[in-house]
Amino acid sequence: MLLEIKDLVVKYGQISALNGISLSVEEGKLTCLLGANGAGKSTLVKTLSGIMKPAKGEIIFNGENIAGMPMHQIFKKGITLCPEGRRIFPQQTVYENLKMGAYNRRDNEIQADVEKYYEMFPILGERKNQKAGLLSGGEQQMLAICRALMGRPKFLMLDEPSMGLAPKIVKEIFNTINRIRQEGITILLIEQNAKQALKIADYGYVLDVGYITMHDSAEKLYQNETLQKAYFGGGQ
Ligand code: ATP
Repeated sequence: MLLEIKDLVVKYGQISALNGISLSVEEGKLTCLLGANGAGKSTLVKTLSGIMKPAKGEIIFNGENIAGMPMHQIFKKGITLCPEGRRIFPQQTVYENLKMGAYNRRDNEIQADVEKYYEMFPILGERKNQKAGLLSGGEQQMLAICRALMGRPKFLMLDEPSMGLAPKIVKEIFNTINRIRQEGITILLIEQNAKQALKIADYGYVLDVGYITMHDSAEKLYQNETLQKAYFGGGQ
């Protein structure tokens, strides 16, 4: 396992947002974390990236307990969060945004990686010298994902990449994720869009108000009627 979380408790003041959850992420796989609003999904990724400190529990990444480590140290270990809400730099060009994603790198393959993403996502190449803020919502999400990849993370967390996007664009974003997973990168995908997420994931966890209530292969979860009733409503 690349990541193993054991009995993790995270609190906002006296209130627990995560009540002792355990989950694991296998190297090279796409694991999804499903759950409704307020389930604690963002709290989990914020804790994994060091933005929040756990009250209890272990976060073993690559054999080392990183629980409570400062953010920059966790980032150096290869953990990257692509946060909710497409936080690109709108006044910078598409190219500059991509370059920023590589600020921690000292190798000479940065330009080659930029070209690789232009090739994978031609729209980014076509718009490379335009301000990123002029891209559509879906294109900005693609850029946000590619920028995160420019840091060459070992482990990428995507927090609700489909949020606020039209159904057709949502499909494109899931295709994007499916393509990057084929590169062998380990991904934790946080989603409310359970149906689409389970179609591309290997394994899934369901988080319900601070507790993991279900976990299984994505295929089994996809067929699970209880889950379908609770989480497939209104999805595409
Ligand atoms: P969403 O899909 O709406 O983003 P989520 O599953 O990511 O939801 P979290 O944002 O992790 O859920 O929130 C989990 C719980 O913690 C919720 O009950 C929420 O109200 C609470 N919470 C989140 N942020 C804070 C905060 N800054 N202070 C106090 N409580 C918070």
